[in-house]
Amino acid sequence: MHIPYGCQSITADDVEAVSDVLTSDFLTQGPKVPEFEQTVARYCTAQHGVATNSATSALHIACLALSLGEGDRLWTTPNSFVASANCALYCRAEIDFVDIELETGNLCVKALAEKCEHAEREGQLPKIVIPVHFAGQPCDMKEIHALSRRYGFSIIEDASHALGAEYHAERVGGCQYSEITFFSFHPVKMVTTGEGGIALTRCEVLADKMRLLMSHGITRDPECMVGASEGGWYYQQVDLGYNYRLSDLHAALGVSQMGRLDHFVARRNELASHYREALSTIAGQPLTPLSLKADRHSSYHLYVVRLSGRGDLEQTQRMRKKWFDQLRQKGIGVQVHYIPIPNQPFYKALKRARSPETEPPETELTVQLPNMAAYYAGALSLPLYPTLTEAQFSYVIEALNECNRRFY
Ligand SMILES: *Cc1c(COP(=O)(O)O)cnc(C)c1O
Repeated sequence: MHIPYGCQSITADDVEAVSDVLTSDFLTQGPKVPEFEQTVARYCTAQHGVATNSATSALHIACLALSLGEGDRLWTTPNSFVASANCALYCRAEIDFVDIELETGNLCVKALAEKCEHAEREGQLPKIVIPVHFAGQPCDMKEIHALSRRYGFSIIEDASHALGAEYHAERVGGCQYSEITFFSFHPVKMVTTGEGGIALTRCEVLADKMRLLMSHGITRDPECMVGASEGGWYYQQVDLGYNYRLSDLHAALGVSQMGRLDHFVARRNELASHYREALSTIAGQPLTPLSLKADRHSSYHLYVVRLSGRGDLEQTQRMRKKWFDQLRQKGIGVQVHYIPIPNQPFYKALKRARSPETEPPETELTVQLPNMAAYYAGALSLPLYPTLTEAQFSYVIEALNECNRRFY
């Protein structure tokens, strides 16, 4: 048996939607991209959507649209994919990390408030903060938004995990508490376009800016030109942009998949509640699911459990490795989300280069980001995707029981 931790679901309708584009007039820059943008924006109740060839691209142009540059600071969570932090460095800004809550894996509001207070005294407040809705559960956006008002930073929501999630009965993506929200359409995410992303916003100025940056900084709109248009062929480059465009082939797959999003989210929630029940029957209950806060509906991109050790963090980490290896051996594609970003060699080297006199980054994680360190030692993602069968599910639970008998 081979069971991955996440998996796309492709139907005959998806295949037909893509092949229709292949035989149409446009493979890219045709009608499918705007249709996809409108479909996602409408679903999320956002006014504007700019589709891109990845979420990483969407995040890059979001940072640029908010004028992030040299001398600025960007803060995010250490419990994310590296892309959430790399965008700061693309823009030559400085990166720093805010600790998480152990129970949800999300950015901790208390830690953010304390860090802001300290940074204000030092004159080092961030320009942008990027909360990540980890595993599909929305962060404490009202509280983070209140801090953004008080300390003057902008918010970009990394909602790569959270398409279809809700916060206080409102869909993530509506940007009620942020300037920009972006999603990923990588195959393991909620819906896929192969590769792809989108940035949503309520602000027309930000949307126009991102649209310009997404396609070389080029405009064909005479109203946006310097001086007059020279004729029908004429375009102007008015900024330094990129080719971050999504193609119509990708967008067609996305439109088709969006039709099944609610079904995907419902099925993921159903499996999550099966997991919760089954885990509570494992002797000694060594695995604790992430807790879901009131007023939130998770999209359950991931099903993360925390293995509680019987000793210090190193002991927990050794035990987690045993469970991980054993489950992998049985063909179960467990994963660990995430390796703390500041632990990556690239980020360690960056930190060493900037402040050679501080402690080595290994000790720094447990000191500066204690919850992240504790969380990482025991985290394990179990397989979760809409097409996971009952038989596969039972096989996973049986394997977990076996791990428990052997290693716990
Ligand atoms: C997947 C992911 C990204 C990057 O998405 P791409 O579409 O692959 O660029 C960024 N942040 C998080 C939290 C992700 O899970």
